This record gives sequence, structure tokens and C-alpha cells, in this order.
Amino acid sequence: MNLLVLGPQGSGKGTQAKRISDVHGIPHVSTGDMFRAAIVARTPLGNEVAPILASGELVPDELTIALIRDRLGEEDALRGFVLDGFPRTLEQAEALDEMLASIGRGIDQVLFFDVSDELAAERMRGRAAAEGRSDDTPDILARRLAIYHEQTEPVVGRYRAAGILIPLCAELSVDDVSDQILKALKP
Ligand code: AMP
Repeated sequence: MNLLVLGPQGSGKGTQAKRISDVHGIPHVSTGDMFRAAIVARTPLGNEVAPILASGELVPDELTIALIRDRLGEEDALRGFVLDGFPRTLEQAEALDEMLASIGRGIDQVLFFDVSDELAAERMRGRAAAEGRSDDTPDILARRLAIYHEQTEPVVGRYRAAGILIPLCAELSVDDVSDQILKALKP
């Protein structure tokens, strides 16, 4: 089962991706988590992307695509994965299709976490406060949402046109969203 979760930050997709990973025994692959781990470990990649993450901008496609290509080639991802935070641009989506097609695989379903900007922003503010991310200023949070609309919404349209998008009402409680996913996922 090769799944994507798509939606703005604050849509709850990370929480649900972890649950799907536990229930179905497939790895939760989050580019944001991978970048943050690299920053903490002070690897060359981490040092390169640290200021980009702090600014709320996107890491360049080449770096992000290479990261995902390596990760999806690992043993534990061979039976499937739930990809969170990637693809965020049309270029990344095209690269993902190509890398999967080259090994005879494809994306099965795309869960789209539909949530208003107001609620996404409110949840992002709550998380920034809870995690002590004082560098997540209101300007940076607004910038992240703007980038989502500009760069990532076209990716949503791409999967909708492909007929594999499953829209979820992501404004409900965590358990209610999990129920929607349970009903929507192919066995
Ligand atoms: P996230 O935890 O998914 O919200 O990601 C945190 C940050 O990591 C983003 O604001 C970007 O700076 C960077 N990032 C994560 N995934 C990607 C991606 N697919 N393309 C570019 N930048 C990304």
C-alpha cells in the first residue's frame, strides 16, 4: 500500500499518518521529520537546510527528491509507505511518479486533509507554542500557508484529476478523521 497524505501544516495529516503506519505496518516517511533529524545531527544536509526550515520556505526540489529516492529504496519501504510532506510541488510529484514507475509501482491512494486556513493557522500557533518553537512567528506561519496554496495545491489537483484523491473533512476530531480514513482506505 503506497499512500500519500496531503494538506497544509495544521491539518492533522502527520498524526493520521502515524496511526496508518501503526495499523498497516508500513513506514511513516516524513520529509519534515527527516530534515529536522538531520539538523539535530548536524549533518551536511542538516546544516544546509536549517536556515530554510527556519524561514518557512521550501527546501530545493533536487535535495528533497534525492532524500526521498534514497528513503523509498530502503528495505522497509518495499511493502509500502505513507508519505507525509512530500510531494509539495508539481516537480516533486512528477519525480515521485517516475521513480515509482521505474520499479513498477505507483501511488494507490492520496488522502487530502481539507481544513480552513483559519483552523490550520490556529493549530500551527498552538503547536509552535507547545513545542517552544518561538522562531515560528505569525509571519512565518502565514508564509507557510501561502506557499502551500501556491505550490502544493496544484499537486492536490493533479491527484484529483488522476482519480485517486480521497478528500477528508480534517476539521473534525482526531478520532473522527481516523474513522473517515478507515472507511476510505481500500482493504
Ligand atoms: P513539515 O514538517 O512537513 O511541515 O516540513 C517542515 C519544513 O521542512 C517545511 O516548511 C520545508 O521547509 C521543509 N520541507 C519538508 N518537506 C518538504 C518538501 N517536500 N519540499 C520542500 N521542503 C520541504
